[in-house]
This record gives sequence, C-alpha cells and structure tokens, in this order.
Amino acid sequence: MGLFDKLKRGLQKTKDILRTDVRDLFKAPRHPYTQALLSSIPRLGAKEPLYAIPGQPPDLSDPPAGCAFHPRCPYAWEQCRVAEPPETNAGPHHLARCWMLHSA
Ligand code: SF4
Repeated sequence: MGLFDKLKRGLQKTKDILRTDVRDLFKAPRHPYTQALLSSIPRLGAKEPLYAIPGQPPDLSDPPAGCAFHPRCPYAWEQCRVAEPPETNAGPHHLARCWMLHSA
C-alpha cells in the first residue's frame, strides 16, 4: 500500500468521530477527545495550569487499531484498543464514535 493510500485510510479512520451542532458541542461535549480539546482552551483569569492532552496525535499513515484516540484517552479500556467504535446516538442531533457512549 502506497503512502497516499495509507494516509487516506488514516484520515478515514480519524474523521467523523462526532457530528453535532456547535452549541451542543460546547454546552455538552460527550466525546472524550472533544472534552479534552475544550479543556485545553486558555481562559482569561484562570489560575490552574492549562490542560494538555497527553501523547502525540496518531500517525495517519499507520493509525492505531481500535479507536484512533485510545493511546491518549484517559478512559480507554481493552475494547477501545481492538475495535473501532461505531457511530452512536449521543443525544438529539449528536452522533459520536466512542465505546463509552455506545454501551450507555
Ligand atoms: S472509544 Fe475508548 S479510547 Fe476512544 S474515545 Fe471512547 S473511551 Fe476513549
């Protein structure tokens, strides 16, 4: 498989981890990656250190098995490492790919 095909496969795997409207995304983020990204936004007057997502973004030419976020996710368990989560209804107009939401 050529580099282009590998990158294309990696992008397909990491895209569409959620679909929601922007207000719901900020008001009630449900996917752990979205929660982590929102926690890393600087806030005026904040005293706490800025949150940083541990690890590195996935290598799109060789994405990890299972959920692409699992090496950096604080909630990852065995299923996350071996199986890609299906798209799950996480609320009105809110779809996300996460095993935690799928089993809820
Ligand atoms: S599927 Fe698992 S690793 Fe991926 S975001 Fe959900 S809990 Fe984290």
